[in-house]
Amino acid sequence: MAKFELGNGNVVVIIGSGAGGGTLASELASKGVDIVVLEAGKRYTIADFKNDDLSMFNLISWLDPMSQSGDIAKHRPTPLWTCKTVGGTTVHWAGNCPRFQPHEFKARTTYGDVPGASLIDWPLSYEDILPYYEKAEAKMGISGRGGRPHLPGNNNFKVMAAGAKRVGYRRVHTGYMAINSVPYDGRPACRQIGFCMQACAIGAKWSTLYTEIPKAEATGRCEVRPESTALNINHDDGGRVTGVVYADAAGTMHEQKARIVAVAGNAVATPMLLLQSESGKYPKGLANSTDQVGRYYMRHTTGSVFGIMPGPVYWNRGTQMAGLIEDEAGHDPSRGFGGGYHLETIPLGFAVFGAVMMPGAWGETYARDIEKYTRFAGMWICGEDLPQTKNRITRDTTKKDRFGLAIPHVHYDDHVNDKRMRNHAFSQGRAIYESLGAEKVYEATPFASGHNMGSCRMSQRPEDGVCNKWGQTHEIANLFISDGSQFSTSAAPNPTLTIVALAIRQADYIANQMATRTI
Ligand SMILES: Cc1cc2nc3c(=O)[nH]c(=O)nc-3n(C[C@H](O)[C@H](O)[C@H](O)COP(=O)(O)OP(=O)(O)OC[C@H]3O[C@@H](n4cnc5c(N)ncnc54)[C@H](O)[C@@H]3O)c2cc1C
Ligand code: SF4
Repeated sequence: MAKFELGNGNVVVIIGSGAGGGTLASELASKGVDIVVLEAGKRYTIADFKNDDLSMFNLISWLDPMSQSGDIAKHRPTPLWTCKTVGGTTVHWAGNCPRFQPHEFKARTTYGDVPGASLIDWPLSYEDILPYYEKAEAKMGISGRGGRPHLPGNNNFKVMAAGAKRVGYRRVHTGYMAINSVPYDGRPACRQIGFCMQACAIGAKWSTLYTEIPKAEATGRCEVRPESTALNINHDDGGRVTGVVYADAAGTMHEQKARIVAVAGNAVATPMLLLQSESGKYPKGLANSTDQVGRYYMRHTTGSVFGIMPGPVYWNRGTQMAGLIEDEAGHDPSRGFGGGYHLETIPLGFAVFGAVMMPGAWGETYARDIEKYTRFAGMWICGEDLPQTKNRITRDTTKKDRFGLAIPHVHYDDHVNDKRMRNHAFSQGRAIYESLGAEKVYEATPFASGHNMGSCRMSQRPEDGVCNKWGQTHEIANLFISDGSQFSTSAAPNPTLTIVALAIRQADYIANQMATRTI
């Protein structure tokens, strides 16, 4: 494994080792670029993973304090569900990988001027990203793409598919999953163990922890520093970034010099790092002269529908989210809202069942329903939410973290479009389960957000966003945004395939710019 001096100003420093950061590291290292990855979390191995919801949540989740406001439910213990560990949230994630639809890159053009929303078109098109989708799918071994078979459906999927057929849906299958349906890239096929979102204990699910990160290290060009929390990005008098100040496991401060800094801390940590790097030259924070850093935070229009079915389902068995209905994904304003949504299978583990399905529930009804655990079926709504200028990550200066820095504040209100979409999805989900004789159907409100996007978005014009179509900040040429914070709009599909495709594309750009000494 490579080891770089702190004073080596030729390295690219990547902050975060998840979907965006881990992919960028392996792509750049394979092109001969020297990389230092600073990762706040610890490094675990597959051998540390347990098939146990709560212990895994407590082991790898990002539980640093955040405050929150807005009309989303108050989520405890955190408004976001992300990870603090080498591999980032790709350790916890479920692996659903649909592509964006072409019109979703042109949201402003397609949906028009929606009052209360700040829609823009992406500065790139579906055609621009298509070759990178194909590279990302091959890298991740997406089932159902590139000639790889789809995963088999578990019982939860079979219930959803049977009901979907009855209500007239046609585009129903086990999804495009970053989970091996056959052995691939040295990793085994899924054994249907059913703990994907806790962390796959055999590595059938793609995670940068055991794919991109070791590949990057194997080039001899990449050093990963776990338990290294980036606190500040420094710059020179000309405004170019020059290095990253970070705290190691013991709390000792260091500065790693850098030729380029790429921030991939997920959609809260990324803008926070830019904001807290304020200076005399950048009094509002880095790349923030147009006051765009932290704005347009998106988290998808979500919610869940759970049905108590007439017979046993055992929804907790098998690949958790290999089940997808795509029929509502298109833009059809006759439904009363813009954009579309997916319905995806989801089970709830026993430990989180009550908290998610019926927050605050207690007593006779709850006890009666939980006895029917084996008869539950469940689906999750994943739809496009609209960017709003007030949905925003800011610094909460009333509270300090362990480094004495202001903690993040997350504000999120639903747009009326989001509410209409959720209500539509609730009634479609209900119809699916009732068509099969469900005894009872629950419509559950969103829980802590796993899909976090848009707080440093891409835009054609600096006044509309933070970075250009390569993720390069408009203001500072050697500072890049390399995670889901780049998203101009959320689109309906789960975000990670697009994060990975953008990271591969960004690596090409950075390597070319370095080779021509443009950066
Ligand atoms: C339960 C669950 C299920 C999910 N399922 C899906 C799915 O099916 N499909 C899908 O597309 N997406 C899914 N997601 C979302 C997906 O995991 C994220 O979209 C993706 O991992 C985001 O990638 P990222 O690079 O932006 O950030 P992350 O993968 O979260 O990586 C960010 C990393 O940066 C580190 N970091 C942050 N700040 C600092 C700092 N200051 N210094 C150093 N390091 C720092 C963090 O510790 C973390 O390791 C799911 C998420 C959850 C929680
Ligand atoms: S179901 Fe498959 S992907 Fe999920 S945890 Fe089990 S083996 Fe891993």
